[in-house]
Amino acid sequence: MKINIAKPVMGPEEKQAVMEVLDSGIITQGPRVKKFEDGFAAMCGVKHAIATTSGTTALHIALLAHGIGPGDEVITSAFTFIASSNSVLFVGARPVFVDIDPNTFNLDPAQIEAAITPETKAIIPVHLFGLMCEMDAIMAIAKKHNLIVIEDACQAHDATCKGKKAGSFGTGTFSFYPTKNMTAGEGGMITADDDQIDELCRVIRNHGMRRRYYHDMLGYNFRMSDIHAAIGLVQLGRLAGYNQSRQAHAAFLDANLKGVVTPSVPEGLEHVYHQYTIRIPDGKRDALAAYLNEQGIGTMIYYPVPIHKQTFYQEEYGYDQHLPETEKAADEVLSLPVHPLVTDDEMAHIVKSVNHFMGA
Ligand SMILES: *Cc1c(COP(=O)(O)O)cnc(C)c1O
Repeated sequence: MKINIAKPVMGPEEKQAVMEVLDSGIITQGPRVKKFEDGFAAMCGVKHAIATTSGTTALHIALLAHGIGPGDEVITSAFTFIASSNSVLFVGARPVFVDIDPNTFNLDPAQIEAAITPETKAIIPVHLFGLMCEMDAIMAIAKKHNLIVIEDACQAHDATCKGKKAGSFGTGTFSFYPTKNMTAGEGGMITADDDQIDELCRVIRNHGMRRRYYHDMLGYNFRMSDIHAAIGLVQLGRLAGYNQSRQAHAAFLDANLKGVVTPSVPEGLEHVYHQYTIRIPDGKRDALAAYLNEQGIGTMIYYPVPIHKQTFYQEEYGYDQHLPETEKAADEVLSLPVHPLVTDDEMAHIVKSVNHFMGA
């Protein structure tokens, strides 16, 4: 038995969809990208969706479209994939890290206001592992201080907070990297209700071009191809089913794991379990991971080094902050497989193995 921590579901529909694009003669950004954007916007309940090459470029474009640049500060989490804050560096602004709530692994809204300075322009709440941040509190702070909100929803496709979708509170950013809840091979998406932000994102995505070969601003080639969009469209149709499968696996682990701290989901939030992440205190995490590996169970530490502790952030950007909950989480977390291809027998094997190791 070998249970991978992540495995994209790729069926005959994806293959057929790709073949149709290859046969159509339109391979670059074309009708499938448009259809994928429309479908994604509808899923999120927003007016616009703009497809990009990755979650990273979605964040990059969103920051540029909101006019964030040198001299600006952007509040975000250090307990996330590095793209959440690297995108801030790309535009010449400075990421300001706020500690997490240890129960949710997400930005602690109670600590955000203390980090706001006259330079603060935006907050990037990261909906880590498929659980949204407490957006009511974050939107209230943003409104009070006139800050832009760019949601990093790269792990939270179709997650909700009080019934409202990830990517529909601020400007949203999503990734379609193969390990995510849905994939397009690679790819990303920006979601927005604001017409002006939508237009700017499209222009920045395509070399600052509104009229062919007349360039109004510095832009990039961050366009998605129709090949990727064709895969994304098939996967978008299956997203709800994938997420239900992840939730069923998570519920089984919640009910049966012993001796470890299972994920907690605050009232009003719907978790889509991009990762099912447990905490193992007392320094036993690495030994448990090694034992599970021997049992054929793939695990992963998301994330072993918080961003403010990455060498180049310290050496090149001068970060020397202490974020106690972020650092503690990095030492204690372990993610277990809950993707849609894990079988019931495999789920039972995961439970038995964890409980055996923990002596429970
Ligand atoms: C995956 C991910 C990204 C970046 O997405 P890519 O498509 O890999 O560029 C950004 N933020 C978070 C939280 C992610 O998990």
